[in-house]
Amino acid sequence: MRTIDDFTRPLEYVSPMDGLLGSIFRDWVEKEVIPYRRQFDEDYREHHLIHPPFKKLLGEYGLQRMIFPEDLGGWGMGRSHYMCTAAFRMFEEIARADTGMALAFGALFWPFLFIALEPHENRRLLEEFAPMFCQTTEPVFAALCMTEPQGGSDIENIEIVRGSTIRTTAVLDGDEWVINGHKLWPSNTGGLARLMAVVCTTNPGSDDPRDIAVIYVTSDTPGVTQGPPYEKAGMAADMNSDVWFENVRVPSWYRACGPGDDAKYFGEIMSTGNMGIIAWISGAMMNIYERLTEFVNRKKYRGLPLKENDAVAGILADFAANIEAIRIVGYQCARMCDRHDLYGPLWDPGLVAKMRAQRYLAMDRFIEVTGRVMNLMECFGTDREWDVEKHWRDLKILQLVEGSKQLCQIETARWFYECQTL
Ligand SMILES: Cc1cc2nc3c(=O)[nH]c(=O)nc-3n(C[C@H](O)[C@H](O)[C@H](O)COP(=O)(O)OP(=O)(O)OC[C@H]3O[C@@H](n4cnc5c(N)ncnc54)[C@H](O)[C@@H]3O)c2cc1C
Repeated sequence: MRTIDDFTRPLEYVSPMDGLLGSIFRDWVEKEVIPYRRQFDEDYREHHLIHPPFKKLLGEYGLQRMIFPEDLGGWGMGRSHYMCTAAFRMFEEIARADTGMALAFGALFWPFLFIALEPHENRRLLEEFAPMFCQTTEPVFAALCMTEPQGGSDIENIEIVRGSTIRTTAVLDGDEWVINGHKLWPSNTGGLARLMAVVCTTNPGSDDPRDIAVIYVTSDTPGVTQGPPYEKAGMAADMNSDVWFENVRVPSWYRACGPGDDAKYFGEIMSTGNMGIIAWISGAMMNIYERLTEFVNRKKYRGLPLKENDAVAGILADFAANIEAIRIVGYQCARMCDRHDLYGPLWDPGLVAKMRAQRYLAMDRFIEVTGRVMNLMECFGTDREWDVEKHWRDLKILQLVEGSKQLCQIETARWFYECQTL
């Protein structure tokens, strides 16, 4: 019998740890996530059911340590030339069970990209935060706070808007930053985040990238408030909330990379984040394929399994063909993010634009072919019992994460057509 493992995984360049990681994650989702995931929607506020699998994965298996250097108790992934290719496999396996969980897992590492990657590793900050994540078997979450009430896309659109709309301020007072502002939507907030990287301006209204500052704040610092979790259409495992910073004081050396470099390395979040979204789409499609296969074998039309009808076969073929394409493209994107020697640094605007292009295209394909699968399944397409509606809801949310489709299109057009004002 064909399985999800019959879809092509480009063997020339998967990570050397791919098989091992794949089987660990497959086993974990089968035992710890899939049996409970249909109840996750109602667990968005408390995480009673969502917490135990995170505890096992992050705390007990120690995945929350992986980006830290080995001598600080981590796994040294931040220095690996397979970081993104390995992440692709992990992301895909988690998203097969629950995309919200995959996003929360991926977003945990966003704040550390500024300080854990070469050539801009910030050893002092890694030493400061490593114990929080590496010396415990409890899950510890981190959040990257970019989006603000007036809009998220403008803040991500660093190349053109250059930080001029950021309203969260950081003022240097002696040897401390004083932070004031209001952020929305960061993954892993709602009370979960122990550490946050906060995107601030040191000079409100300025479009000088040197005024964009990424500053770390632990959530127990006086003046930090995480609001209650939002109730979304799905993705309950990714907790999001408002976060307020009121005269929050942190040491001056809590700034990630320094003037100019904080803005420059922001691109790393965008390239790896968009690559990750493709992995999450691919993972969700794997599970829909599994459920769909069961459905078209079990359901009969004119005495034959549904899959034996010509019109149905067209829909099934399109779904399978899109998985093939999205997975191969996704792995290629991961490899492009890893092979700086061939494709340039992670923060390169060309790489960011290419990742955004592949991400929005993959998402459009997902939405189109999954809609057709749901039509095929008729009322069962919307039945929680079949899980397809869960992936469909979750991925619609994922389409809106890390910059809208419009921002993806703008950045793609800007790079390929050398637009000057977009
Ligand atoms: C599940 C989830 C997790 C998230 N996690 C995080 C996180 O970890 N950290 C974080 O900071 N944020 C996070 N976000 C927020 C997310 O990144 C923003 O929602 C996203 O960037 C869009 O911002 P916005 O919602 O403010 O919309 P806006 O940016 O205000 O956009 C509103 C509309 O304007 C359009 N638009 C914007 N700019 C342009 C333009 N130049 N030209 C044409 N149209 C434009 C958009 O396409 C959209 O239709 C998360 C969101 C979700 C749903």
